[in-house]
Amino acid sequence: MTASRRPALLLIFILLLTGCRGADVWRHTEIVPIQPGQTIHLRVAHAVNDRLPRMTPEQLDTLLAATRKTALEHFGVHLEFSEISETSVDVLLALIPPKVRQARMNEIYDFKSGMGDRKQLASGILTTLLERKTKLTEALAYARPYLPDTAAPKSLEEFSILLADVMLARLEGWRAIKAADGKPVLDDTPRNEWIFWDTVGYGELPYDLVITNQLVASAEYTAVEVHTAIRGGLTTGTTTFSRNSPYGSFVFWSTFPFTDTSAQSHALRGNEDYNATQAAELSGAYLAHEVGHLLFKFGHPFGQQACVMNPASLLHYRVWQQQLDAQHCRIGNIPEMQIGAIPEIYNANWLRMAQQP
Ligand SMILES: [Zn+2]
Repeated sequence: MTASRRPALLLIFILLLTGCRGADVWRHTEIVPIQPGQTIHLRVAHAVNDRLPRMTPEQLDTLLAATRKTALEHFGVHLEFSEISETSVDVLLALIPPKVRQARMNEIYDFKSGMGDRKQLASGILTTLLERKTKLTEALAYARPYLPDTAAPKSLEEFSILLADVMLARLEGWRAIKAADGKPVLDDTPRNEWIFWDTVGYGELPYDLVITNQLVASAEYTAVEVHTAIRGGLTTGTTTFSRNSPYGSFVFWSTFPFTDTSAQSHALRGNEDYNATQAAELSGAYLAHEVGHLLFKFGHPFGQQACVMNPASLLHYRVWQQQLDAQHCRIGNIPEMQIGAIPEIYNANWLRMAQQP
């Protein structure tokens, strides 16, 4: 799954806060026409956190081959990747313009210091539920297997509080995982913060696709969705604004959920681990989902299991892949598979800040 709809939800949240004063701050990027059979060149980086397990060059080749194959089958385009530039997570995140980073810091729920505001987190979740016109019974039916047995929320307000509690408890689960050096995977740096990854494209980012071994898991006051909450704020990947990409967006993609063998990852994957080849192949196949957002701005046909753009449930990547069927999910056949279903948006103020010397 991806958090790529978060910017749109963020927009709505901000509009609610400002009474539409900021309506003209958010703009769409252009949609670049792509012909069937076209070859698309993507610039690829591997941003590495040395403290965490990483995929080998062979695994990365396998990963990208699976992305290429899946994108050809489902979207009819030929992907051509650059040589993979290796960089570090810290060097990459340092591309974020300081003023833009500052403008977004108050979106982050600080779960490390204990200073986060749990009520505000729940109310942010409620805002998202209301915006999506969520029906309690349907959302509960979806989330029930992943909630405590005793949970019985009677309103969306109660459901939001429950989701905030579940999210923070699972986030503590991610926090408990230790790296090979014996220290927590989620350390005191902001490397795990979704907001940072979501902002790097406002800087001079020279890549269209950034693969990373970093665990991206965090909580935000803006636009947390049900599926993100029940995964404890974990993000597999996101397609989001990039000022330097011909497609107006770039993709960041975490391999951690595919390679990690902690009890929490094992459980969220449906009680299985993947071997090295499976992790690379499944990660690559699911990365095609982000390529669908990147190139075509497709939406999410929830429950249409034949479609690459149907998000995986929790971390059940294998089941997701087994259900794919390109013959039964054609571009344009359903609203979410229309080109431009979710245009990329950006904040013009942040872009202006980024371009100031
Ligand atoms: Zn998505």
